[in-house]
Amino acid sequence: MNHLSDRALASAAKLILTGLAALLAGCRQPGPAPAPVTARWPVMSTVAELSLPVGATNLPRLQPIVAGCFDAVENRLSFFRETSDIARINRQAGTGIPVAVAAGTADVLAQALSVARESGGAFDPTVAPLMRLWGFRGGVTNLARPAHEALGGTLALVDWRQVTLVVTAAPPHAAVHLARPGMELDLGGIAKGYAVDQAYDALLREGCSVFLVNLAGNMRGRGAPAAGRRGWRIGIRDPLQVQAGAWLGTLTLEDGEALATSGNYERFVVVEGERVPHIIDPRDGQPARGLISVTVLAGSALEADALSTALFVLGVDQRRTVLRAHPGCGAVYLTDTRPPRLRVTPELHGRFRPAPGWKTAVEWVD
Ligand code: AMP
Ligand code: MG
Repeated sequence: MNHLSDRALASAAKLILTGLAALLAGCRQPGPAPAPVTARWPVMSTVAELSLPVGATNLPRLQPIVAGCFDAVENRLSFFRETSDIARINRQAGTGIPVAVAAGTADVLAQALSVARESGGAFDPTVAPLMRLWGFRGGVTNLARPAHEALGGTLALVDWRQVTLVVTAAPPHAAVHLARPGMELDLGGIAKGYAVDQAYDALLREGCSVFLVNLAGNMRGRGAPAAGRRGWRIGIRDPLQVQAGAWLGTLTLEDGEALATSGNYERFVVVEGERVPHIIDPRDGQPARGLISVTVLAGSALEADALSTALFVLGVDQRRTVLRAHPGCGAVYLTDTRPPRLRVTPELHGRFRPAPGWKTAVEWVD
């Protein structure tokens, strides 16, 4: 996904040749439009972008501020960095020793646990042992489906209710403990959204009023990139088309809104000849089924990120409890059916504009 303009299309087309198609594709919009200025850089094994309005000159000053926010979040929340809060918590699982963590870590974890509760465990920040079992997160890529016993044993380690988060007025202020040895936290479904919110707040503190932050499709915008626009118009990538500029449709981010997409097409392993997406349903230990992607519009990037992962697991029919807990959030689902359908929730009426090729596939759900 990207904000849309003619020049963005041209520059994106070049970058796609360098293999960054998933993130950087642009799109044509009616009439000539000057492009916003954009910085792109690698972070967290993916690509980050900061876009500022046409003619902005402060990109060199602001980009390091955003990059600094992303690095700080990665240092604290990375699953792999030994010194991160998450790695330290995981090493003490089942020991009875609570691990002191930064206030920010406690905040993300608290929000992850709320979404876990709202979603009946479809979103679960303790999903890591299942990720390993299916060959992600440093697990062995099995090539065969996990045996019944292995699945049962692993499922016993995945339970957000066995996470204790204690927040106190006195130091250390926040401490976390996982009840059973072998349990592990994995905030991969929420951390990028949190990082984008951190960058958003930092840019506001700098007095910046028009910008778009994008971390691997987790986006949050402020203001509009050019006069006469309502906000940042974002193309939702069509994962069934390989060429650049193929969109399911567009959504315009108005002040402070955020967008995130979870999909089965970017990260996966192949097990018994079948693609297994990197989102697992913790309720049965199986890879989430039924959808190709889900895009969520929300009031913050953390909310969009967590909800897109949760809704990818829950599917269209089980979404209500989660969406009710997050008023104003809406979703565009691309179903894994033949032919695929675009199912859109009512909150996005008048907001989601399907691309011409997708108009007849749209179904507004109640
Ligand atoms: P996203 O791309 O935001 O949907 O996040 C996918 C990442 O979330 C995966 O790479 C895992 O780290 C993590 N994850 C996978 N399944 C779940 C789940 N059911 N609940 C919470 N996090 C998950
Ligand atoms: Mg997510």
